[in-house]
Amino acid sequence: MAKPRVVYWFRTDLRLHDSPALKAALDLEPAVLWPVFTWDPHYVYRARGGTNRWQFLLDCQNDLSESITKLNPKSKLFVLREGPQTLFPKLFKAWKVTHLVFEKDTDSYGRERDEAVAEAAEKAGVQVIIRSGRTLWDSEQVVTQHGGKPTMSMTALLSASKKIGDVPRPIPSPEQLPDPGEMPVDFAQHQPDTKPDINAESRTNNDTGYKHIAGPCGDFAIETLDELGFVPATTPHKGGETRALKALDAIIKDKQYTATFEKPKTSPAQFDPQSTTLLSPFLHFGALSVRELYWRVQDVVSSYGSAASAPPVSLTGQLIFRDMYFAAQAAIGPHFQQTAGNGHCRFIPWHLPSKLDPATGLTTGDYHVDSEQADEWFRRWKQGVTGFPWIDALMRQLRHDGWIHHLGRHSVACFLTRGGCYVDWERGAEVFEELLLDHEPACNAGNWQWLSCTAFFSQYFRCYSPVSFGQKWDKHGDLIRRWVPELQNLDAKYIYEPWKAPMQDQKKAGVRVKGDGLRDVEEGTYPKPMFDFNERRSACIAAMKTAYGVGLYGDDERVSTGTWREM
Ligand code: FAD
Repeated sequence: MAKPRVVYWFRTDLRLHDSPALKAALDLEPAVLWPVFTWDPHYVYRARGGTNRWQFLLDCQNDLSESITKLNPKSKLFVLREGPQTLFPKLFKAWKVTHLVFEKDTDSYGRERDEAVAEAAEKAGVQVIIRSGRTLWDSEQVVTQHGGKPTMSMTALLSASKKIGDVPRPIPSPEQLPDPGEMPVDFAQHQPDTKPDINAESRTNNDTGYKHIAGPCGDFAIETLDELGFVPATTPHKGGETRALKALDAIIKDKQYTATFEKPKTSPAQFDPQSTTLLSPFLHFGALSVRELYWRVQDVVSSYGSAASAPPVSLTGQLIFRDMYFAAQAAIGPHFQQTAGNGHCRFIPWHLPSKLDPATGLTTGDYHVDSEQADEWFRRWKQGVTGFPWIDALMRQLRHDGWIHHLGRHSVACFLTRGGCYVDWERGAEVFEELLLDHEPACNAGNWQWLSCTAFFSQYFRCYSPVSFGQKWDKHGDLIRRWVPELQNLDAKYIYEPWKAPMQDQKKAGVRVKGDGLRDVEEGTYPKPMFDFNERRSACIAAMKTAYGVGLYGDDERVSTGTWREM
């Protein structure tokens, strides 16, 4: 019988180590194996990925390609510039493919795409092999073991995963790879009918990418930022499996750090080096296997005995949270990333007052903030010019580096939603989607729901102060001085509340607290705070209290369409 001709489709797994799907492909003992990456229009055009995340992806692709070539000089990562749904049916025929192998993706778009590709494969007589490898436990199996329900707590995840069994030990990297076969691409290239919807602010030119998707496959080269129409990246964080494994080695070498890691005790203000592992972007692109990380940590923890930390605060605990969100998303499906249609996400009438006049549906009450005002707060939050230096420093770090500490994410997310602006969490999640290197649909939406007290967590009276929370970690305001250089020379006494600094202190520091940071910005100024935080906190807590009171909005159509549910 003729030996298999296999396309290995890299997507969420840009690595060679511990890849159950790659192992399944190699176990077929193929005559030829093509390692391919397809240019998916969903990510190239529609998703809001900014330049930093694209750069990290390119780093991962380049590193993977080099590693493949080291194992077989005839091979590399072949990048094809067309959406998989239209490309694969043509490839199956032109390359005489017998098998298509890939890692399971439980993101909602990923599932839809993979179903279309699997259907096309079946029609073409191509066998599809899919293996789970992106999470500790297969998210779909977790859902089954949880009775089809989403895992809305760590306990739920742990009890479901217990029924599945231990996390499998990692699989070593392959030592060789088969040759790729011939790669004719003389079939018609896909021509998109409409101009793509490009959202990312960091695009230089909407036309650039469009031109190229219709272009030839050429030498299957890895794309460049320029080709994609992006401005150069600013992040100092670099991607790739080689770097990921080196970073992991360094972490594991520090046994005490690894074994006694406790999340809330790590500083959000520490930046050089940061206080947590910063492995999330590698995990996102699959340049690091989560099972590899889990077992390397577990082995240290076992050797440490009772002095080691434990979930939920330990490093292992963080990985379990990650699996919890993936499994919740796998159960809820596409609605997981929004309130509408998501029966597990509490509806909050963001922007609106705590009371609606049932007769007119119009707003009344003390907490009213008109949408225009809230929209301006949102824009100031996004640009890092709120006038609260702690929030601004974090938002500027996020924009420049593409990564901020978990408690920094807590601070800015709470501030935008239930602890300041009362803006819908979905708007904040969209900004994170564009700016984060590690943007993971399940983890991003899940954590925003947690922080906005719409799911997973409900203690809305526990708010982060943009002043005292930062001070607790960083009295001198080093994070602020780094990211808000306007305030670099301000006395530590005023660094979190510059509007309180007397004129002579402002003068001495070479800064004036003035304006709103958006309009007519003068050099040497830093904006005034956009509201009185204590007032806003009280207003938000009162509004949340009302929103949590079941029945108040019973007649409001926004509630019935938003699926109100007690947690
Ligand atoms: P470490 O503390 O070193 O943890 C190790 C790994 O555990 C991380 O790399 C990550 O994969 C996982 N992890 C840790 N905390 C969480 C958590 N709360 N939820 C899920 N996984 C976790 N994480 C993402 O990976 N992608 C996102 O898009 C994302 N969006 C977030 C949005 C908000 C509003 C908040 C509050 C958190 C978000 N997180 C997200 C979770 C968390 O902040 C990051 O995973 C973490 O800060 C990454 O840094 P690290 O690798 O140093 O984490």
